[in-house]
Amino acid sequence: MMQQIQPLPTDFIRSHNDWQTQRAAAHRATAVKLADDGQTPKAMVIGCCDSRVQPAEVFNGDVGDFFVYRNIANAVPPVDHPQATSTAAALEYGLTALNIPHLIVMGHSRCGGVQGCHSLCSGQAPELDSPDSFVGSWLQVLRPAYERMQRTLQPGQDPLVALEQVSVLQSLDHLLTHDFIRTRVEAGTLALHGTWLDIRSGAVSAYDPQAGAFVSLAA
Ligand SMILES: [Zn+2]
Repeated sequence: MMQQIQPLPTDFIRSHNDWQTQRAAAHRATAVKLADDGQTPKAMVIGCCDSRVQPAEVFNGDVGDFFVYRNIANAVPPVDHPQATSTAAALEYGLTALNIPHLIVMGHSRCGGVQGCHSLCSGQAPELDSPDSFVGSWLQVLRPAYERMQRTLQPGQDPLVALEQVSVLQSLDHLLTHDFIRTRVEAGTLALHGTWLDIRSGAVSAYDPQAGAFVSLAA
């Protein structure tokens, strides 16, 4: 059989060695403790795969602080959805084995996945509307969010930003379809949070249930 596994490019190796000599020492005491004692993250984040989104960084997090699960468009399927398994496995481990007390869904600006969902649901993307498209099949998870966005869109509001934010709320609703999440929320041992990151400014907004809107965290 042809050998398919290649050595890492030298610039990756050089970058790693630079990190070891320049920055890893600062993390070493924490990393050794986490390795020996195990992790106790303060929050779990459901974020997008997008490389411009760094959930731990925007909360000034250190190694071990955030248990991060990423997928296209930070979507959470409901419990009975055929694509629920991977997300549910991460949630089950984070919440029932690690007992993480905060669960943050983080949407973001310029989300290609949300844009794809908008195109798919508005009939503009036949390539996604096919059982052969893994991305399209996945983005169907957010179809209820698209329909909700259409019902609630305000005049002058950017429909893509609205869908990015409504998708977060939809995913929070879907989280509660899991018994192990709903019971923890009802018992007060788990708090759910909705956030949206502006990737140009790095500013995070959080959903304020009283305002019914995402509100900037800036003081
Ligand atoms: Zn995204």
